[in-house]
Amino acid sequence: MNAVILSIGDELVLGQTIDTNSAWLSSQLAAEGVMTVYHQTVPDQIDDISSAITTASKSADLLIITGGLGPTKDDLTRNALAKVLNQQLELHEASLDRISLFFKSLGREMPPSNKIQAMLPKGTSPLNNDWGTAPGIEATISNCRIFVFPGVPREMMQMFNRYVLPAIPTNIKRCILTETINTFGAGESTVAEKLGDLMQRDRNPLIGTTVSGGIVSIRIRSDFPAIDTARSQLEATVDIIRGRLDELVFGRGKDTLQEVVGTLARYRKKKLATAESCTGGLVARMLTDVTGSSDYFIGGWVVYSNDLKTRELGIPVELITEYGAVSEQVASAMALQALLKAGSDLSVSLTGIAGPGGGTPAKPAGTVWIGIATKNDGKASATAQRFIFPGDRSIVRDRAAKTALNMMRLSLTRGYT
Ligand code: AMP
Ligand code: MG
Repeated sequence: MNAVILSIGDELVLGQTIDTNSAWLSSQLAAEGVMTVYHQTVPDQIDDISSAITTASKSADLLIITGGLGPTKDDLTRNALAKVLNQQLELHEASLDRISLFFKSLGREMPPSNKIQAMLPKGTSPLNNDWGTAPGIEATISNCRIFVFPGVPREMMQMFNRYVLPAIPTNIKRCILTETINTFGAGESTVAEKLGDLMQRDRNPLIGTTVSGGIVSIRIRSDFPAIDTARSQLEATVDIIRGRLDELVFGRGKDTLQEVVGTLARYRKKKLATAESCTGGLVARMLTDVTGSSDYFIGGWVVYSNDLKTRELGIPVELITEYGAVSEQVASAMALQALLKAGSDLSVSLTGIAGPGGGTPAKPAGTVWIGIATKNDGKASATAQRFIFPGDRSIVRDRAAKTALNMMRLSLTRGYT
């Protein structure tokens, strides 16, 4: 069984809204053994929508359409479907009652324009929508079953579960499960080298890599006749990948570095602090993006000027004069002082040249010293490492912040006491 997913909306084609519906629908279908052959996105134009429906219905067993069921003039999906079916729109009384009841439950009168949402192409069936006004539509063209859902993700998802899942034959002998393993600290080619033969294109589960925001992810696709095998093979592959990549792996799925640092800090009962210059508080922001971060994050300093580094953190003027603000000595001192002043168990510091200006041959733009201080047997010590991050100002800051989080993660994983 194969499927086509069609998303409709000017905002999607213009790039104002990201089409998350198609991604979600494809992965749900894959888990049920239904392969999506392609995604298509078209604007709110009758002709574009109807020709997309016609083409898809010739090649797919299942066509899922989202968007364009609203009450306004730019919602034309029902008209386009009527055109393909060569049928008139007719009023579906029960759906009209549901829509007016929906408004009543909100204490409002139904605006007259919403009546259009109860109009369906003759011969098609309405699909109830408990979360919004627009009913979906079910239709058939030759051998293709068509489901039309509103574009609002929450409504689309619950209607997919209610109407599409039961329509998928249970005798499909196929299940495709996917997973992502996230790594930080090595480039894509290094990761690929470590994975070696695992990346052969005829392997099942199939393994591929992608990189985004400095994070190299390993995508796994497990394709087997039964869900149990698909799951056990997927987990076995995850274990092999973890074995080969070791400390580079920080999480799976949607895990972020800051969440993982938070989980480790909570588990090990360690308090964290930060002292930032070139990242202007980005590390602190990322750490506090995680709910419950007050359990382990004490706080931090943004000490941008040399003067404030001295006044707030007590970095000796002489140290800055002798080595420069962007130096191993200053980075270590900042991390150590943050640790002592905040009373934390672990702290990081960042001092660098985010660019594009400000670089010198010895310290080019993108140079960042990252310090890390820890307490061992009550004794505090600090070290620092130099990085040169390529890219523009925002990339340098982002990579520096992630690298600092990763150093925290490694420190917490290696289990200093
Ligand atoms: P519509 O059903 O076309 O009125 O869409 C309602 C809202 O759902 C739009 O304003 C979008 O914010 C959202 N939406 C529509 N299509 C998609 C899609 N493919 N992915 C994510 N959001 C969508
Ligand atoms: Mg729309």
